[in-house]
Amino acid sequence: MNVHDSERLAGLLEDAGYARAEPDAQADVVVFNTCAVRENADNKLYGNLSHLAPARRANPDMRIAVGGCLAQKDRETIVAKAPWVDVVFGTHNIGSLPALLERSRHNDEAQVEILEALDVFPSSLPARRESSYSGWVSISVGCNNSCTFCIVPALRGVEVDRRPADVLAEVRALVAEGVLEVTLLGQNVNAYGTGPGGVGQGAFADLLRACGEVEGLERVRFTSPHPRDFTDDVIAAMAQTPNVMPQLHMPLQSGSDRVLRSMRRSYRSERYLGILDRVREAMPHAAITTDVIVGFPGETEEDFQATLDVVRASRFTNAFTFQYSPRPGTPAAGMGDQVPKEVVGERYVRLTTLQDEMALAGNRELVGTEVELLVAAGEGRKDVHTARMSGRARDGRLVHFVPGERAVRPGDVVTTVVTHAAPHHLVADAVLVGHRRTRAGDLHEAGARPRTAGVGLGLPTVGAPSTPVAAAGGCGA
Ligand code: SF4
Repeated sequence: MNVHDSERLAGLLEDAGYARAEPDAQADVVVFNTCAVRENADNKLYGNLSHLAPARRANPDMRIAVGGCLAQKDRETIVAKAPWVDVVFGTHNIGSLPALLERSRHNDEAQVEILEALDVFPSSLPARRESSYSGWVSISVGCNNSCTFCIVPALRGVEVDRRPADVLAEVRALVAEGVLEVTLLGQNVNAYGTGPGGVGQGAFADLLRACGEVEGLERVRFTSPHPRDFTDDVIAAMAQTPNVMPQLHMPLQSGSDRVLRSMRRSYRSERYLGILDRVREAMPHAAITTDVIVGFPGETEEDFQATLDVVRASRFTNAFTFQYSPRPGTPAAGMGDQVPKEVVGERYVRLTTLQDEMALAGNRELVGTEVELLVAAGEGRKDVHTARMSGRARDGRLVHFVPGERAVRPGDVVTTVVTHAAPHHLVADAVLVGHRRTRAGDLHEAGARPRTAGVGLGLPTVGAPSTPVAAAGGCGA
């Protein structure tokens, strides 16, 4: 979500007449879009700000702005700790950045503007996209859940959904710019449409099916669903819509029902595993990934064993594993029975060892099979040394492949055969079976990136959407 907000910030600034600084040049406007989910985000921010202090002192015209979750949380503290910062803006008013920069220049004083509720839906702002072939599309912002470890609801507010017609208009705008893949974004995509004024249950499945009608859209992904709200109509829509990829990111967090209760996550391990069974029944080759937190307050060895059991049964392709550490402002930070750091570390190693074994076993089954890859930029750290390129398979797996004599570009689509498996990637050193040059590849080669105008009129009003998905007529709404 933050990465996508940064695309909006870049689009806004370009619209206001700013141009991107050359890589080694000293920019005269620097914007930090901060994330409060990461540990030590504040230390990193103040460290970076200190580095910029001499440049700011030397150049009175330079502006430094801080936005995002940490700004929403710390507010005036930022200018108190780093008085050379010119602008502080929150998660609800990213559209104010150009005006705040201008005002700080005009008044020659720091501008701090934090709103308590969403001002303008970020998707109604212009965006300067980072990728020529793959784009984010927000379907909602905020979250109505209250997981006790999570700072998101406090900083992003309650869930606000976009109208289906606006989402589809943005999808079509991206495809018109050559984009082949979209990822629908929301903190809890399954709650989409179920709030006041929403189109009701089934809205997310309808949205997936409507994306299936968009001519030229080859791959649809989404993140993240919530096990509590995940319904079978979404599984059916995934299985029956050819451009919705057989990939599901389903956050587990813990396999212990006791810990899930304490996390205030209202599903239990049995329900979780049942969802995975039904997904695999409908899509036998679906790749399922997850998030797991180790060492949540009060987690016993027995609880941790329950997590290992669910991880073993789930056969995840990949897991984003986190060692619990308290986030100030969350209920879990104040819980008494914090697990000692060394215990958390030791459990973490056991979890990642098991997950790597499971992932490797799953990846080995793919050796010798054909995969279709959307070629990516910057996904293979060793590609320069190995003469390989990297891409994502339809199920989201990372594959490093040999392009051979073909002039393959990021954004193109290739077909190849897997020759080797590792826990976190596949290797395809075979001769390419196919290579399709795409418009996205042409644009990437030319250094062009999509720019999309904002879609939507700002915040949705209460009531039926302006154009229901069902009436979109192949996303022609
Ligand atoms: S559902 Fe996700 S975003 Fe919402 S409170 Fe829980 S962890 Fe945070």
